[in-house]
Amino acid sequence: MLQIKVERTAAPKPKPAPNEPLHFGKIFTDHMFLMNYTEGKGWHDPRIIPFSDLTLSPAAMVFHYGQEMFEGLKAYKGADGKAYLFRPDMNAKRANRSNDRLCIPQIPEEDFVQAIKAVVKVDEDWIPTAPGTSLYVRPFVIATDPFLGVAPSQTYYFLIILSPSGAYYESGLAPVGIWIEDEYVRAVRGGIGYAKTGGNYAASLIAQVKAHDGGFSQVLWLDGVERKYIEEVGAMNIFFKIDGKVVTPALSGSILPGITRDTTIRLCKEWGCPVEERRISVDELLEAQKAGKLEECFGTGTAAVISPVGKLRYRDEIMTIRDGGIGPLSQRLYDTVTGIQLGTAPDPFGWRVAVED
Ligand SMILES: *Cc1c(COP(=O)(O)O)cnc(C)c1O
Repeated sequence: MLQIKVERTAAPKPKPAPNEPLHFGKIFTDHMFLMNYTEGKGWHDPRIIPFSDLTLSPAAMVFHYGQEMFEGLKAYKGADGKAYLFRPDMNAKRANRSNDRLCIPQIPEEDFVQAIKAVVKVDEDWIPTAPGTSLYVRPFVIATDPFLGVAPSQTYYFLIILSPSGAYYESGLAPVGIWIEDEYVRAVRGGIGYAKTGGNYAASLIAQVKAHDGGFSQVLWLDGVERKYIEEVGAMNIFFKIDGKVVTPALSGSILPGITRDTTIRLCKEWGCPVEERRISVDELLEAQKAGKLEECFGTGTAAVISPVGKLRYRDEIMTIRDGGIGPLSQRLYDTVTGIQLGTAPDPFGWRVAVED
């Protein structure tokens, strides 16, 4: 159990008005969590302090070699007025897999979840309540040694910041257009693709710009070796329904193991819908599309939960799915997951976790 000191701000900021559009990641709450790591001493001084800028040496290792990891989850207000999280233990586990890959010290899972609960509790009045809105929670670790040598840092900060966020879809689920990238790749097996870390995003920006210029909202990555097999979307995993079966790329080491991906697989299986985790080639998709068997396509991720895909572009080919409409499985998954998160649907798996019990 962490002994977390709480220093409350003397100057609380005005909260956004209930009807103000929040967008994503632009507004921050009054407080943040901060804990230090020092080699030989371990994690120490867990505290909640007013949200403020950091003072770091310009030589801090995170700026030069990118030794950092991050997580993302959401807090919701239930109909009972209490704050809830969705499967935060999964974020704690994944954080440590990322830490392990990046030579960042482990954070005990129960401490990770306790820290999230504590800071959300302090700022719970910041959780927006309009439909589709939530408080986005961003835990992250940065390497802070002032040293230009290439080695794991001996000091770190673990921080958690909070950002009230708007509905991903302003007016219900809306299908997106996706660009299958055949030049740049995001990750290779043996690399850092399965870790949630800034470096993967730095590598992805160029294709994101290319996709936007081409009129598409997201990039779908192919495998880094043959550029033939589907991997994942920018910040989402990808699912297809082909000839009655749900298929998604297997976790091969280069794909981020999404929590929404896991949730989707468990729900599909629960509903008696077979799920195959395997390799899927672009050719298979093109053939399924031509045979009229590509029934649905959707992305899964914390931000959008379920993001139906209406259009996939690969070189000169455009695959239009369900005439650009929303499939029944996508809609059912979206309704079920958001229902569990808000407490309006039964939660047989115990995925919804109260911030204060
Ligand atoms: C975070 C992330 C996802 C989605 O993971 P969730 O846990 O479902 O939010 C997918 N791909 C990448 C690259 C990510 O960073």
